[in-house]
Amino acid sequence: MPDLGSLAGLRVQARLLWSTDEDHAAWLPEGVIEVGPDGRIVAVRDSGPADVRLGPAVLTPGFVDGHLHYPQTRIVGAASGPLLDWLRHSTFPEEARFADAGHARAIADAFCAALAAAGTTLAFVYGSVHPTAADILLQTLADRGLRAIAGPVLMDMGAPDALFLPPDRALPALASLADRWQGHDDGRLQVAAIPRFALSCTADLMRGAAELAAPRGLWCSTHLSENTDEVRVAAELHGGPDYLGIYEALGLVHDRSVYAHCIHMSDEEWDRFAAAGAVVAHCPDSNDFLGSGGMPLDPVRARGIPVVLGTDIAAGRSFRVPRIASSAHDNALRQGVRVPPETWLWHATRGGARALGQPDLGALEPGFQADLVLHDLPAWVDSADDALAWLLFHHDAPPPRGTWIRGRRVWDRDAHWRAGGVFPWDAPGPA
Ligand SMILES: [Zn+2]
Repeated sequence: MPDLGSLAGLRVQARLLWSTDEDHAAWLPEGVIEVGPDGRIVAVRDSGPADVRLGPAVLTPGFVDGHLHYPQTRIVGAASGPLLDWLRHSTFPEEARFADAGHARAIADAFCAALAAAGTTLAFVYGSVHPTAADILLQTLADRGLRAIAGPVLMDMGAPDALFLPPDRALPALASLADRWQGHDDGRLQVAAIPRFALSCTADLMRGAAELAAPRGLWCSTHLSENTDEVRVAAELHGGPDYLGIYEALGLVHDRSVYAHCIHMSDEEWDRFAAAGAVVAHCPDSNDFLGSGGMPLDPVRARGIPVVLGTDIAAGRSFRVPRIASSAHDNALRQGVRVPPETWLWHATRGGARALGQPDLGALEPGFQADLVLHDLPAWVDSADDALAWLLFHHDAPPPRGTWIRGRRVWDRDAHWRAGGVFPWDAPGPA
């Protein structure tokens, strides 16, 4: 069998599954996919000759994780919620450790290994407040061939002093990170402006972040209406007509902004959110684990607001986006909304990528980037419905066998296991 470290120039046979639109998936049980030298898909066929045969395994597009926190890698599972207690007891002490570059480097390595092992090929990553730690993360993402939008969080109040960086230091540091990394490797890496949330940022810092991001075309992201105590404190600190209004007044709500959670919002806020073209990062597992509530689907779907799923590591308990799709399904049913599995695949792949401004990701079609994940799939699974059931809702399914970005392998499960690795993040990834 040829080495699969690079798929360039190979015709690969496997079962193929991907989203064609928001409600439909394509399923080719004898499919053959061909990757070109530039890491893009050049052909997809129903069947035919192949250089390597991987059936009955299934290839899907890589997953999109629209919201997670790199400095929280080691506190996954900390059950100290709800939100404001969890931040105080579990999160801020761990994030303070990222002042130490050695710690930041070790966790960046573990975090990136976990992303690749989860089959995530585009991630929107929050760092700690420390610019050096964010630079280490971006360097690690670059070296491992991963694709991400990432940046440090901005904080200048409402947390331990060790986690403050005032605007006159935080914003120049963000600008120099953008100078170094924005658009790196033909757009594989982007830098984001990330005021953490209204409780940990002065208006000056948030306004400065928006003003820095706009001319550079940087994505902005923050948390919004996750927890009712948070909503109340945000109003006490910043006033405004409502929580969204705080961010609007500072220039942060637009079509390159991603808002995590969005649980406790009025209809009027949803109207303005939709009119601005902003994106929801839906984090249902985190919402459950911190007891934050359920993001209401009706207002989002009625307005056609773009949605990307977010693991929200570490308030979410898994790096695996399909696990989050499963939580999203549960959240929908609790609201009496039945969302077909095809739609969750859409949000987890093609739709999520489109929401994040990357329309050439998330499908197995010519012209798309060859960001692929290979999953074991029992031979008896012989339809799109059964494959979706296995991939999205079967929590005992093993981790992906392989992950490729632009046709280059970034995760090889069997090599990892042969080398004695157990968890994805306990050993270096493939060279
Ligand atoms: Zn978060």
